[in-house]
Amino acid sequence: MRPFTKLVAFDPAPGDPVRPVATPIYQTATFDQESASEFSRYDYSRSGNPTRDVLESLVASLEGASRALSYASGLAAITAVTRLLRPGDEIIASDDLYGGSYRLFSRVLADRGVTTRYIDLTSASQLRAEVSSKTKLVYTESLTNPMLRVCPVRDLAEVAHAAGALLCVDSTSLSPYLHRPIEHGADLVVHSATKYLCGHSDVTAGVLAIADAALADKLKFLQNAEGAALGPFDAFLLLRGIKTLGVRIEHQQRSAARIARTLSRHPSITAVHFPGLSTDDQRLIHERQASGPGAVLSFETGSPEVSRWIVESLKLFNIAVSFGGVNSSASLPWCMSHSSIPEPVRATKRFPPDLVRLSIGLEDPQDLIDDLTHAIARVTGVHAEPKAIESIA
Ligand SMILES: *Cc1c(COP(=O)(O)O)cnc(C)c1O
Repeated sequence: MRPFTKLVAFDPAPGDPVRPVATPIYQTATFDQESASEFSRYDYSRSGNPTRDVLESLVASLEGASRALSYASGLAAITAVTRLLRPGDEIIASDDLYGGSYRLFSRVLADRGVTTRYIDLTSASQLRAEVSSKTKLVYTESLTNPMLRVCPVRDLAEVAHAAGALLCVDSTSLSPYLHRPIEHGADLVVHSATKYLCGHSDVTAGVLAIADAALADKLKFLQNAEGAALGPFDAFLLLRGIKTLGVRIEHQQRSAARIARTLSRHPSITAVHFPGLSTDDQRLIHERQASGPGAVLSFETGSPEVSRWIVESLKLFNIAVSFGGVNSSASLPWCMSHSSIPEPVRATKRFPPDLVRLSIGLEDPQDLIDDLTHAIARVTGVHAEPKAIESIA
């Protein structure tokens, strides 16, 4: 089955005799058993719930994984991965990482004796030089956030595996509709399902897809033992969101590409980060491992104040730390989603304080372009006629 079909053509309620077309919400904590000595398939919703099971098998099929597990948030899914590590083990992580992952690694895991080193993972060369026998996990995002850098998953997997480490890819910014890291050698894939999988900004959730069946059993054991599994109503909302993932992403990334082109020709914008721009030298690696550029982009203006005023002048964009929803949003990662990273570290991450991140939603792209060009004109006094900018070939 092709991606569009997979998103809707799944059994919504395995074994249900009334055959509903949408998955029922099994809003129950516990299940009545056949007898005191014979246990049914389900006994307690922390251990297993039919609504959550449908979601987890759908995600496993979308990612090409042997199993997927769902959690109360993206960070709970990432935490589950870190439970595979013991004191003395080391993580090598990308130096362009979601702020919450950085906080988890540096301020929670560090206290448990697991150290993390942050390096450039946009090629495998630095990893090859830095990996050691202590390295048990290589952790990256592709695309990275907020700089939209591309990491070569197959190369990173080869180096990680040769050193006996697992490769985990946070694929939140692309979703399985565009990128399936397991097909390129990753062992684990995590998503903040709060973003594209949900798509409607009304659920906090995380999913973890696992390539290897034995590793999946271990993580399933931990999901029950630690108790951070996703609730049935949130699982239902995610299932509902996933059905429209393909149409959402197709529209959103087409708009994002148009907006990125427009901004890249605007005299007040000093840089645009988007893997779909033809000037981007990482575009070829991205096109080898993903089927589209996604709908998040970021740009620079040369001045943190100008960036802030532009963001605050926008009318159609929410000012929000999240992305991947049906409404467009704008954020200043330096003081919003990535503020949990200490300033000296942010400064070494090649991540500028004037960076504006945009998540493109389902609005008409021309309305978004008008909103952006008007906001830039209000702040900088540079009035650029959007149609004229766009028509420069
Ligand atoms: C939002 C986000 C997370 C954290 O997910 P939550 O659902 O907010 O816990 C992790 N990784 C990336 C790339 C994110 O954008």
